[in-house]
Amino acid sequence: MNQSTDTLAPLSSAPEAEDGPSRYFVTSFGCQMNVYDGERMGEMLAAQGMQAAASREDADLVILNTCHIREKAVARVYSDIGRLKRDDGSKPMIAVAGCVAQAEGEEIARRAPSVDIVVGPQAYHRLPQLIEQARHNTLAGSKKAAIDTDMPAVTKFAALPVRAKQPRPSAFLTVQEGCDKFCTYCVVPYTRGAEISRPFADLVDEAKALVDGGVKEITLLGQNVNAWTGTDAKGRHQGLEGLIEQLAEMPGLARIRYTTSHPNDMTDGLIAAHRDIAKLMPYLHLPVQSGSDRILKAMNRSHTAASYLAIIDKVRRSRPDIALSGDFIVGFPGETEADFEATLDIVRAANYAQAYSFKYSPRPGTPAADMEDQISPEIMDERLQRLQDLLNTQQQAFNQTTVGERTQVLLERQGRKPGQLVGKSPWLQSVHVMADGARIGDLIDVELVSAGPNSLEGRALTLVNA
Ligand code: SF4
Repeated sequence: MNQSTDTLAPLSSAPEAEDGPSRYFVTSFGCQMNVYDGERMGEMLAAQGMQAAASREDADLVILNTCHIREKAVARVYSDIGRLKRDDGSKPMIAVAGCVAQAEGEEIARRAPSVDIVVGPQAYHRLPQLIEQARHNTLAGSKKAAIDTDMPAVTKFAALPVRAKQPRPSAFLTVQEGCDKFCTYCVVPYTRGAEISRPFADLVDEAKALVDGGVKEITLLGQNVNAWTGTDAKGRHQGLEGLIEQLAEMPGLARIRYTTSHPNDMTDGLIAAHRDIAKLMPYLHLPVQSGSDRILKAMNRSHTAASYLAIIDKVRRSRPDIALSGDFIVGFPGETEADFEATLDIVRAANYAQAYSFKYSPRPGTPAADMEDQISPEIMDERLQRLQDLLNTQQQAFNQTTVGERTQVLLERQGRKPGQLVGKSPWLQSVHVMADGARIGDLIDVELVSAGPNSLEGRALTLVNA
């Protein structure tokens, strides 16, 4: 599967409009769910007989799988479309997919007439038909784009081919989509629709196909993954912990992770799963966004700083060595210095192994974009710097606490040095290991010997392999 989030450079050859494209290239921006969708689009086109191009230069169909979370991401889509034009004036067939496609739809075709296809995240299973439609439009000399931003009742998943053999030992598996929370700064409920949970049996089948294809670690994905519910083969109602328990019985699957969760959907069952299911990795990504109850209310997060910390406390009692991760927004409209101090306080209280932090970015169509008292970029920059300084200190401290630990690392890629491999610890840390004879995909016992700001050095001990 060709996939990269690098910036696109100008191209040099023309597609065969007559026969339709035969070589595709997918670029996914933004979250892991977009990465998953990009992988599924590629697998579907390959199942249609198309080839994965090694680079965009070699492709006659380029799919920009877009993210709508921040203004910069949207602007980038239009500049990337422009750069697809080739020196000889020709261009590949261009498809814009993902959340910008959903949010902007026809507007993309109006602003960028070189775009042939606009397809939303719930409709990409219809790409083969859209490619055919775009081909006909081109042959008919029409500049019209083939557009589909429908949110069909029957989800796309049923129309997608069985998972192909995976290039990496870890893979994503979308179990839940959409969101009903309507945080006032977020576009997801508008671009991905209402919360849906994929059927239990379909998820077990897809996980089995991934493991049969060589995958050792599966990350369950959802905008609100811990809101997932389903009915198992015995007709019992299950929450996410029930699905994890079932997958943990799968031979060959060594590790399970899940992301992204909402504090209000952290059930006691899921918290207990961190204690009881060995294959569930000791890592929890639980966004909070702010430490100020006043701002949390304005964000419509429907939880308080205290209720968030109470959940963290429960999780830590269930799994004391858990690595906690979070998301933060600085500069939300109306945020005072005192509100920001409350954010620093919750960071100190929660003590993160790592976390993501962003400046507030007004998104068209979201309530917060029209709120009074938008914060100046200078104040946002200054606050983001202070927050990241604290988070980096916590990350380094967490990495240091794991030095001396004997743990397992799943090897994922080659390192920079000859004979060096890089993998992930159970706490999702990057670990560099010199491991003669070991290969990508191996699970090895390692002693963590030193910690840097973003990764650790490990001493290889023995090969494990589930
Ligand atoms: S819970 Fe997450 S995905 Fe849902 S609206 Fe809030 S920020 Fe967006």
